[in-house]
Amino acid sequence: MATIFWPLQSNIIRQNSVSNTFGMVRKYASGAPKPHQGWDFSATVQTPVFSIAEGSVAFVRDKGDYGLQLCLEFDFDGTTLYAFYAHLYKVHVAEGDSIQANQLVAASGESGNAQGMAVADQHLHFEIRTKAYAGLGLADRLSPAHVFGRCPLHQVIAG
Ligand SMILES: [Zn+2]
Repeated sequence: MATIFWPLQSNIIRQNSVSNTFGMVRKYASGAPKPHQGWDFSATVQTPVFSIAEGSVAFVRDKGDYGLQLCLEFDFDGTTLYAFYAHLYKVHVAEGDSIQANQLVAASGESGNAQGMAVADQHLHFEIRTKAYAGLGLADRLSPAHVFGRCPLHQVIAG
């Protein structure tokens, strides 16, 4: 079994709201279901962020709604998966670097479309992907619960 760590020292879903978990959990103005591609972990700006597994850096980039992003490739019981971190303030590693499990890799932030949020809404957007460069909606993504075994909604899980 792969050893998986949590990305923060204190892991809890933003606002304890199911709309900040994975799936068709949000709504468009029309009322139609809208996807959220990962989990939003509560994290004030500049909270330390850790690698969830041993692996390597697939990419670092600053682009679009996700802002400053870090994508880590890792092996999960024989399958290659990607841990994707967004809205970062700073990334401490570079593309191609080898990464240890639970290594300090970034600081959370409010880049991209997370700019200017109230403190209670500041967060780390975190996805589990099956492709480094995932498609639209929920394509090429899994619920992070697939890797972590449980969701920290209504509970705080220490990293
Ligand atoms: Zn999010």
